[in-house]
Amino acid sequence: MSRIAGRTHLFVPGPTNVPDRVLRAMVVPQEDHRSPKFPELTLSVLNDLKKVFKTTEGTIVTFPASGTGMWEAALTNTLSPGDKVLVSAFGQFSFLWADMAKRLGFEVECVECEWGTGVPYDKYEEILRADKEHKIKAVLACQNETATGVSSDIAKVRKAMDNASHPALLMVDTVSSLVSIDFQMDAWGVDCAVSGSQKGFMLPAGMGILGLSPKAIKAIDSSRSPRCYFDLADMLKNNASGYFPYTPSIPMLHGMREALDTIFEEGLDEIFARHDYLANGVRAAVQEGWKLSLCAKEPQWYSNTVSAILVPEGFDAAKVISTAYKTYNLSLGAGLSKVAGKVFRIGHLGDLNCLSLMSAIAGAEMAMLDNGINVTPGSGVAAASTYWRTHAPKVK
Ligand SMILES: *Cc1c(COP(=O)(O)O)cnc(C)c1O
Repeated sequence: MSRIAGRTHLFVPGPTNVPDRVLRAMVVPQEDHRSPKFPELTLSVLNDLKKVFKTTEGTIVTFPASGTGMWEAALTNTLSPGDKVLVSAFGQFSFLWADMAKRLGFEVECVECEWGTGVPYDKYEEILRADKEHKIKAVLACQNETATGVSSDIAKVRKAMDNASHPALLMVDTVSSLVSIDFQMDAWGVDCAVSGSQKGFMLPAGMGILGLSPKAIKAIDSSRSPRCYFDLADMLKNNASGYFPYTPSIPMLHGMREALDTIFEEGLDEIFARHDYLANGVRAAVQEGWKLSLCAKEPQWYSNTVSAILVPEGFDAAKVISTAYKTYNLSLGAGLSKVAGKVFRIGHLGDLNCLSLMSAIAGAEMAMLDNGINVTPGSGVAAASTYWRTHAPKVK
């Protein structure tokens, strides 16, 4: 393929665009990670991450890994082989976490839900109420299903557990929601909050981030699952003094320091409001402009970080994505597994604003027209601009 001049328009829902100041902060000489000075950086990052998870009681750890590694760390450090976990699958990521739990030797009760819906709160409560002997040791929930553009309400998952007076650990996948959609680790009683660096944090992939409640930390002692690289006991012991059990990625730590400064300068609530505002513009383009449907079935499931857009029957979404990439230098998210060929996704999270998103909307529209999809030229851009010009981000 010959080169297309100009910036690449990256609109996959992770990795997301890295702000220039964060990129610059990562270009650093290597240093001794066992030096007496090193803990300054480690401790400032780990402490400030607590604010992002909205926890004062919890502890945050980071690993040289991606979000998937933190799924594994959460499960293997708190559970024992054969322990039962309750999960729900309604998209590729929620499915994969359930599948991992099976492959790691846990007993998995998986509620299969229609793709385009989210965590089945009532069904969870029913199952937990019926589990009188408390065989279920962990309840898993994906806050934002990136494959279908579906967000679930974690407060409602906590409520279902409390209504059933169930003592299981609550584990939440926040990989494509943290820093973009509100997450309250303490208020919602989340025990393990799994995240990664390349989505809302606006960093490259390479740092797995895991929030742990005091209850989760206590569970490490009695958990008998084999683990080594991801052993939280080793990590927590070393982190306490600002070190790591093995070599951390130094550029990633500097990048995270700068990303956190960027985040606090804008303000978490302002960031959530911006994501809501931008997402509403994209949804206006899809529904009012193009007259297409989202994969998310109802407004209660709409995600503020990613929209999965159904192409009309008889068209191949993969071709739209390919045209967008080859012709317009635009990366759209692919349809995964069950929705392959049926949807393309626009990631609207991280370092972006109205006009950067306009490039994704305009490019998707051009690529759809090139593939014979009968949308009105300019209709997506018009609907998004009308929404953005007549509304403002609402800070809570
Ligand atoms: C991206 C993603 C993951 C996987 O994270 P990796 O960093 O790619 O390992 C897990 N869950 C969700 C919801 C995601 O969006």
